[in-house]
Amino acid sequence: MTTHRTAGEEGPRPLLNRRLAEFGTTIFAEMSALALRTGSINLGQGFPDTDGPEEIREAAVRALRDGRGNQYPPGPGVPELRTAIAEHQRRFHGLAYDPDTEVLVTAGATEAIAAALLALVEPGDEVIALEPYYDSYAASIAMAGGVRVPVTLRPHELAFRLDLDELRAAVTDRTRLLLINTPHNPTGTVLTRAELAAIAELAVERDLLVVTDEVYEHLAFDGEHVPLASFPGMRGRTVTISSAGKTFSFTGWKVGWVTASPELISTVRSAKQFLTYVSAGPFQYAVAEALRLPDAYFDGLRDDLRAKRDLLSDGLSAAGFAVHRPAGTYFVTTDIRPLGEEDGFAFCRALPERCGVVAIPNAVFYDHRDEGAPFVRFAFCKRVDVLEEAVARLKSLAP
Ligand code: PMP
Ligand code: GLN
Repeated sequence: MTTHRTAGEEGPRPLLNRRLAEFGTTIFAEMSALALRTGSINLGQGFPDTDGPEEIREAAVRALRDGRGNQYPPGPGVPELRTAIAEHQRRFHGLAYDPDTEVLVTAGATEAIAAALLALVEPGDEVIALEPYYDSYAASIAMAGGVRVPVTLRPHELAFRLDLDELRAAVTDRTRLLLINTPHNPTGTVLTRAELAAIAELAVERDLLVVTDEVYEHLAFDGEHVPLASFPGMRGRTVTISSAGKTFSFTGWKVGWVTASPELISTVRSAKQFLTYVSAGPFQYAVAEALRLPDAYFDGLRDDLRAKRDLLSDGLSAAGFAVHRPAGTYFVTTDIRPLGEEDGFAFCRALPERCGVVAIPNAVFYDHRDEGAPFVRFAFCKRVDVLEEAVARLKSLAP
């Protein structure tokens, strides 16, 4: 049964409400299922094919065995993790947060994003997001009843850049917040200090809140990642979101966090408490240990992924794609037009049959689908032998 009639209504009424009707199944689930069905190499959904550090896995096992976190942890997160998050913000970014009032642990960055939007957005408020945007943004804005206002990043000399004039022009009296993501999924763009300073000035001038998704904070290969919260006037208006999934290669643990002023944290918690209340008890203790790993771990992760970026980017160039070599994240966006193709959807649906590789059509991350049509995203957070095999298969596409 997919429909249900409500008294007084003409015809069948869809079960799924209007807010979510446009979303369907996430592209990641669809493409991972396609990879399984066709036995293809999955460079679609962004998850590593090797787990994170063994000692952190062991820390989770220890917590579970010692009975730490097996019952509901405290609503804001276990104190050990909140302290470790605050220490991490100070160690890497020079930002001071009080672990008791300015840190909130969430079920991954995904819940943090949803809770922030559900708590801060009134129906009808405009939310500006950088297009292409991570797919949960559109759904979370919709669930909050907000109006999505995309500002498109466009390719310039093989990198996708933000047009600051366009961003300024997008702000209206109805704008509630800017939803920023750097390093940026799917383009791999790392916003520069100058761009971030301009975003901060705009937020201060127009008195906007900012929600910033920095889950790839440790994966800036060229240039540096600078948190928006560190710019003048931003500390009190910025909700900063990150998570353990990408930094420690445990995407299944779903441990994320928010750092912000006490007022913003308690606002976000108002929504979060009714979404999951709490999650991932034993994993929270393990992530606390992970955040305290020595610098060598974080440098090693970045160096490893930089080498993989180069391997896959070079292979894609050799196969005839135009490659937008990413400055960060673990995705590379390509342009398929040099291959004589125009439609990323059709290309990605056919790719498993053609050469046994799965990728993601960037158009799903756009409201302006035309702008995204020729772009296709490949993930490089995979073993070297897997990437080498993928590159060998993709070579068969070369014109
Ligand atoms: N934001 C971005 C930009 C992402 O790429 C992802 C996927 N890792 C998420 C949020 C979701 O993170 P999590 O798995 O911690 O919910
Ligand atoms: N963030 C991952 C990506 O962009 C996927 C996460 C998910 O499956 N929801 O591929």
